Amino acid sequence: MSNASVAQAVNRVSVGAALQAARIEAHEHQAWITAINRAALNLEACKWQFDGDDLRIESATNSGTYYTVTAAGCLCKAGAAGKACWHRAARRLLIKAAELAELASEISAVEGLELAEALGKAAAELAPLQTYARQWNAATIARNAAELYA
Ligand SMILES: [Zn+2]
Repeated sequence: MSNASVAQAVNRVSVGAALQAARIEAHEHQAWITAINRAALNLEACKWQFDGDDLRIESATNSGTYYTVTAAGCLCKAGAAGKACWHRAARRLLIKAAELAELASEISAVEGLELAEALGKAAAELAPLQTYARQWNAATIARNAAELYA
């Protein structure tokens, strides 16, 4: 994706949908749940730039200090120690938001829906299931689906 389409794809709605999916995925890992929740708050409060792969984001505690988060990790104190940090959670949220938006634009084209409606549909149905299919075994998928649609 180009930078412009990344910027369009990453918005409050797609990040919200990504947040919902991420909380479900991380539900057995409290450190990551905490990091995801801080990321959601700090993405609103801190300055950041995201090119679809690398995230440059301002420290929540030292304004003017920036961290660059890549697929290799984050160089903040926690990240350098191999611990969960909200910067990495933020990068994952933005990547997931962009994926959801891309999926929504396909749904929108195929089904003739408005983009916002297609995004809701992608988040509610397809993205969680696809993510589960990649990352979880069948038993976990079944358990999460039962919780999600109960
Ligand atoms: Zn970090």
